[in-house]
Amino acid sequence: MHQQPAGEPGPAPGPEHELHVVNPATEQPVATVPGTTPGQAGAAVRRAVRAQRRWAALPPADRARLLRRFAAEVDARTEELARLEVAEAGHTIGTARREAGNVRDLLEYAAGGAERLTGLQIPVPGGVDVTFAEPLGVVAVIVPWNFPMPIAAWGAAPALAAGNAVLLKPAETTPLTALRLAGLALAAGLPEDLTALRLAGLALAAGLPEDLFQVLPGAGPVTGAALVGHPDVAKVVFTGSAATGRAVMAACARRVKRLTLELGGKSPNIVFADADLERAAATAPASFLDNTGQDCCARSRILVQRPVYERFLELLEPAVLAVRAGDPADPATGMGPLISAAQRERVRGYVPEDHPAAIRGTVPGGPGFWYPATVLEGHRAPARAAVEEIFGPVAVVTPFEDEDEAVRLANATEYGLSGSVWTRDVGRALRVSRAVHAGNLSVNSHSSVRYWTPFGGFKQSGLGRELGPDALAAFTETKNVFISTEED
Ligand code: NAD
Repeated sequence: MHQQPAGEPGPAPGPEHELHVVNPATEQPVATVPGTTPGQAGAAVRRAVRAQRRWAALPPADRARLLRRFAAEVDARTEELARLEVAEAGHTIGTARREAGNVRDLLEYAAGGAERLTGLQIPVPGGVDVTFAEPLGVVAVIVPWNFPMPIAAWGAAPALAAGNAVLLKPAETTPLTALRLAGLALAAGLPEDLTALRLAGLALAAGLPEDLFQVLPGAGPVTGAALVGHPDVAKVVFTGSAATGRAVMAACARRVKRLTLELGGKSPNIVFADADLERAAATAPASFLDNTGQDCCARSRILVQRPVYERFLELLEPAVLAVRAGDPADPATGMGPLISAAQRERVRGYVPEDHPAAIRGTVPGGPGFWYPATVLEGHRAPARAAVEEIFGPVAVVTPFEDEDEAVRLANATEYGLSGSVWTRDVGRALRVSRAVHAGNLSVNSHSSVRYWTPFGGFKQSGLGRELGPDALAAFTETKNVFISTEED
């Protein structure tokens, strides 16, 4: 398979810009994708500027209708998209199907928002004062490899709904689902009754207007940096590592560019002695093994109150060992490979050879970037495994004495993305949830991400919020207009 980028036709990018997509479960090549040169990225921005003006001029009801058609195209292709995600990212097929469904849901949810993007009418003397939620213009959405489809849609769907054009830069290792989504946007096909679109001069053969949603595969420091530095890109939505996030923030500062950052995490799973211990132990493996731990919300620090610590570990061990690693395309598989050999080396570096793991799963032999489910004991801050984001199937389990110590340990990290609290005491559940410095807490559950609710991090985990009822607001500027009613 050889994909074309959405860049300007012109000199083809050289081999140095090529992206080689590899199946992480087999190490077999899947596709070669030409990367986008800085020149092509600039041309894509110019086209997006023109497309955005026409898009923003459409009645919101028409924008909503087109986004719903885009959602329907995604819905009809969830299996195809899921299979692509399995091939390029090694996700289990069940996870990949949910991700494709999530893209459809995000588009539908955002479509409703397009029609409800209302302003205020503010009582003032001498006239009428109203506010408008104006689109920003062109938005760059820069996506990591761990959840290529949903994270692309978290940014793109509300940005489009609010009247912006989107340039999506997928991660180097996972450009295929993003490219397919761009194709589906164009294929959505316009309904006959959208005369407003004809009047606006938009291409009738297409779904979403051409150039409104472009996918620009390429290397981060080349294509990503070109978008971040471009004066006509009004906002950057960046999801990725904290180190790159800081560099992107510094580049945005030069032009006071709007920015949302979704960065890393080192989230706690706090289990109190009064919790439903069986449920807490049965659900803990998925909370750090889903997506092979390559999840910014992974509950990779399990904190357990001392009186139930040993019992919890007894219950945890069979639950962890029951998660079968293997062929991600097999629906019975619980855990796939890591994304790459480099990521496997990174994860290995956190598990000391001379420190036996408390729990250790098994993985297939042969090709594939496999790493076993691993639970470590005896690592406390500032030990690296206890404070740094490992982004692999590794959790550290630590005992605590009381509520104060639980909160202190939970907060002993520069990150603040998610966390879970297991207790039957409602008062404690609320006290601890309020005391943990993180954006997304769940009580007797490990749920962090729902498209209906706001998502984002405290501290080094990020800036701004995505998803939820206010998702579109992050892609608008508030404009205030005062209209005098005085006679002279
Ligand atoms: P990364 O920071 O290396 O890359 C993320 C994206 O940024 C990629 O598309 C990359 O090409 C691009 N990029 C790299 N350098 C750039 C530059 N100079 N300018 C512009 N773009 C650039 O991260 P990764 O290794 O792909 O992803 C893993 C990280 O993402 C983890 O640390 C994880 O915690 C984080 N993550 C966070 C969330 C969240 O919502 N908070 C969600 C998923 C992943």
